[in-house]
Amino acid sequence: MAGRTGQDAGREEKLPLVSIFPSIDGEVNSAGQGTLSTFIRLAGCNLRCWGGRCDTPQGLSVTENTPRVSVDDLVARVVALAGRKTTVTGGEPLLYLGKGLETLLRALGERGMRISVETNGSIVPPVELRPFVECWVVDHKCPSTGETGAMAPLERMTTALRATDYLKFVIADAEDYAFAKDIALRCGRVPGVPRIAFSPKADDMPPAWLAENIIRDRLHNVQFNLQIHKTVWPAGEGEV
Ligand code: SF4
Repeated sequence: MAGRTGQDAGREEKLPLVSIFPSIDGEVNSAGQGTLSTFIRLAGCNLRCWGGRCDTPQGLSVTENTPRVSVDDLVARVVALAGRKTTVTGGEPLLYLGKGLETLLRALGERGMRISVETNGSIVPPVELRPFVECWVVDHKCPSTGETGAMAPLERMTTALRATDYLKFVIADAEDYAFAKDIALRCGRVPGVPRIAFSPKADDMPPAWLAENIIRDRLHNVQFNLQIHKTVWPAGEGEV
């Protein structure tokens, strides 16, 4: 029997998994908000937004009870769920660069999967993964999170992203809005930068306040992004 190739062996790499589930993609992404997608939620995050009161607490930590799942198994589960688009999220997926993430993205890409990856802005996505990742959705942290200091330098981030990727800001208050607006205005003067989205933080920011400020300030390069899964399933019951 022939030995396993280096690539096959790589697919035995294991990633800490919270859940795999089909849903609608409630965030901005290149395939369009509301597109059916199979979510792979990995465990483990290097940040603690809002003092750990983040909206995906199940993805924060890897514990001894967190299942470690091989890339082969992850791909098989996505295929069994009839996935055509996959959203890799967390936690922070880019923590697993060199530890199986590239192998997973390559394996999904080779099956013709459209892939978006949601990432927290602290790690610049590597250029080598561009052929497999259709859309990076980078959640650049605003002051209310307490994690702006952990963000990768903005210039490095915008240089690494394409015009089809997203730089997203979740806005909880007026200070967050002023912070995000300043970046949006600066980015608006540079051709080829990623698309920019502002999301109202659920429970904290009235959507109308944010929309009206975007209109008042004529932020023509900003896309208003209501995280529609939080409207459809406000208690998170859409995740199965
Ligand atoms: S980056 Fe995301 S998962 Fe990590 S603490 Fe912040 S909101 Fe939670």
